[in-house]
Amino acid sequence: MVSLQDKHSFRIPVYARDLIKVTSLDQLRDLPNTQDLWILGEGTNTIFTEDFDGSVLWVQLLGIEVQEESDAWILNVGSGENWHALVEYTLARNMPGLENLALIPGSVGAAPVQNIGAYGVELSEFVVSVEGYDLDAQEMRRLQNAACEFNYRESIFKTSQFSRFVITSVQLRLPKSWSPRLNYPDLADLSAASTPEAVMQRVIEVRQRKLPDPQQIPNAGSFFKNPILAVETVEGLRAQYPNLPVFPIDAAYCKVPAGWLIDKAGLKAMQVGDAGVHQNQALVLVNRGSATGQDITELAHKIIAQVYDIYGIRLEPEVRLLNSFGLIPKAHWWHHGA
Ligand SMILES: Cc1cc2nc3c(=O)[nH]c(=O)nc-3n(C[C@H](O)[C@H](O)[C@H](O)COP(=O)(O)OP(=O)(O)OC[C@H]3O[C@@H](n4cnc5c(N)ncnc54)[C@H](O)[C@@H]3O)c2cc1C
Repeated sequence: MVSLQDKHSFRIPVYARDLIKVTSLDQLRDLPNTQDLWILGEGTNTIFTEDFDGSVLWVQLLGIEVQEESDAWILNVGSGENWHALVEYTLARNMPGLENLALIPGSVGAAPVQNIGAYGVELSEFVVSVEGYDLDAQEMRRLQNAACEFNYRESIFKTSQFSRFVITSVQLRLPKSWSPRLNYPDLADLSAASTPEAVMQRVIEVRQRKLPDPQQIPNAGSFFKNPILAVETVEGLRAQYPNLPVFPIDAAYCKVPAGWLIDKAGLKAMQVGDAGVHQNQALVLVNRGSATGQDITELAHKIIAQVYDIYGIRLEPEVRLLNSFGLIPKAHWWHHGA
């Protein structure tokens, strides 16, 4: 048995049967027994709530290659590289584009899995292709951007048919023509002449102010997805809650902040054991010391149930929560929670 406590940022003291550190492609081809496994990067979006009855593949494939084209830089990045270090690497070499995504914890390989996004920018804008090893077919495959089916915190890599696809590298294209992306309220007062570094510094400053550092207070970032609702549903809610913030997606759908719903429902003080809601950001659930897997799942169920009772909205975890068999299915949360 191997401890997973320091392998995921929520720091639950649980164990896996085995931990395999993957540092080369050959190792993937020669894996002895690949049944019952979970692919792990830095564990900042994964919570192991129980001992995991399988092997954890801890992906540590490194390397950054840069090719210059007339109008863009093409990067080929190993999936085990740290995401924020990559953002800093590109900016230090005058290759702007990723600055709004600074300080998002985790690895490059996990970034396409939930199509990381922040401050009005999503990874999918930069992805040319994603390469990986299919453990079932035992072959390398490359998916071009359209085949990745990127969406809000979603991609094909989250579907069950890709649960045994180990992302080995990500190809990104950073266009040379650049202007700052300042639509997000926290960046809106920056000048249109701001440098990529200035934008990155602001993003870092805002994130450090608003989000708990997992090194100090164990957490896994946004615990729930922001719900996407039909425009008519939102109009109904707005009649009752005129201050509800709404972000239009298209003519038919809007996104509403799950953190606002939790906060206004008065759930910030909610706590189960040592699992609680962060006082500055209700979307983040935290481990105040010795939270157990049961504490965090019970807290999540309570929040989902109360939000549903109050607003009729079903929250869905953004975090990948595992029990001893693997991923806890989405339906479980709604069945027990609401
Ligand atoms: C404080 C904090 C703030 C955050 N802020 C944001 C934010 O602003 N925006 C945002 O989008 N996210 C945010 N997150 C979530 C997290 O940073 C991202 O989801 C990140 O991409 C996770 O990287 P990881 O390596 O830690 O992934 P892990 O937790 O290790 O894995 C996440 C998922 O990716 C899969 N995976 C990991 N590596 C591979 C691989 N090589 N091949 C195939 N599958 C793989 C795992 O199986 C799992 O399903 C935040 C998290 C924290 C703790």
